[in-house]
Amino acid sequence: MTAYAFDRVLTPEGWLAPGTVEVGADGRIAGVEAGEEGERVGGIALPGMPNLHSHAFQRAMAGLTERAGPGEDSFWTWREVMYGFVDRLGPDAAEAISAQLYCEMLKAGYTAVAEFHYLHHAPDGSSYGDLAEMAERVTAAAGRTGIALTLLPVLYNAGGFGGAPMGGAQRRFANDADRLLRIVETMRQRRGADPGFRVGLAPHSLRAVGPECLADAVAGLDAMDRDAPIHIHIAEQTKEVEDCVAWSGGRPVERLLETQDVGPRWCLVHATHMTPDETRALAATGAVAGLCPTTEANLGDGLFPLEAYLEAGGRLGIGSDSHVSVSPVEELRWLEYGQRLKSRRRNIAAPPEASTGARLHAAALEGGAGATARETGALEAGRAADIVTLDAAHPLLAGKTDDAILDAWVFAGNANLVRDVMVGGRWVVRNGRHPEEEAIGREFVRTMERLAG
Ligand SMILES: [Zn+2]
Repeated sequence: MTAYAFDRVLTPEGWLAPGTVEVGADGRIAGVEAGEEGERVGGIALPGMPNLHSHAFQRAMAGLTERAGPGEDSFWTWREVMYGFVDRLGPDAAEAISAQLYCEMLKAGYTAVAEFHYLHHAPDGSSYGDLAEMAERVTAAAGRTGIALTLLPVLYNAGGFGGAPMGGAQRRFANDADRLLRIVETMRQRRGADPGFRVGLAPHSLRAVGPECLADAVAGLDAMDRDAPIHIHIAEQTKEVEDCVAWSGGRPVERLLETQDVGPRWCLVHATHMTPDETRALAATGAVAGLCPTTEANLGDGLFPLEAYLEAGGRLGIGSDSHVSVSPVEELRWLEYGQRLKSRRRNIAAPPEASTGARLHAAALEGGAGATARETGALEAGRAADIVTLDAAHPLLAGKTDDAILDAWVFAGNANLVRDVMVGGRWVVRNGRHPEEEAIGREFVRTMERLAG
């Protein structure tokens, strides 16, 4: 066991200043106490933030989709650009991009990631020699950087509602439930013993997975692990809602809740377009809403009904999704700012006389831990030792204590305040540096130059 002393420690019961976190050889927190014992690390110790929604390869597209097309641009024109990009990505490139991304995530304060992994096959749609080749590459990238990975192999089975045929670019994503479950099973067998690794399943969306296929996949997952997480994209776009109504007579969230036993193991990604009834119904299930404010803003999706959802006791977490931004600060800030711009009021997420930054931070830790199915999200005995320190000497934090630190970080922390990062008891970033960052960065640059050429 090793004890680490910090200037300040955020615990579920409040702040300790100074505080000590004891970390066992199993990578879990053995105890948290007031006072300074053991090795002095300093800084402000926070629980590491889970990133509950990632498509790693899309990091390579950041900044490449901001030129207007000939007509009106939307999520759907963005998707065409993404499909064109996907066509050129092989396993080596996917691994290099993922490693760079995960390294950036750690340095930004994310300690776990749920990878919504849908790029399974070769460009012609045939499987690689190893059916799980691409899943292995993403997993290898996570292993190299030290981030905890919840791998969610994605089931993609149709080009639209009602079993519409898939387009050419979608061949790389396509699996029936059996083949997808083989990837899940393979990865469980190969990697299941690693405490930093978890496998679940992600039906891509109701438009890409028909009702029977969805039922088969969930039953197959249950046969392996009844607690494994299930994530699904839902109600991100108004067109998707309209298409779902035209096909089934019901809205996506409404329909999912009617047809599936949605509970705390579920993460509904985006859930942007909900009626007040759907909002309350989702909150009551205990499922996590997977919110990705920077991507949702970038794609012009719309605004999540945050205030009503929080009032109903709903759970939420944050994801960087398309990775146009890789920063928990930006996700939390824009989650609140979108609501302020819409309502023309301030401090929407906070309960009376409480801190908005602290409320959003705590909610995202709790929901993110649930969605990644990892014992993380709080500095207390029994949880994984996933710790992020902020630089206590940074001018932005001068004179600030306790929750005011979180408000300063979330609303004014444009310089990265993250100094040290521990995942599962192992330091992966010290003084802002990851030991592999130069090598990973070189491979990423070579990959990007090849893709551009
Ligand atoms: Zn997504």
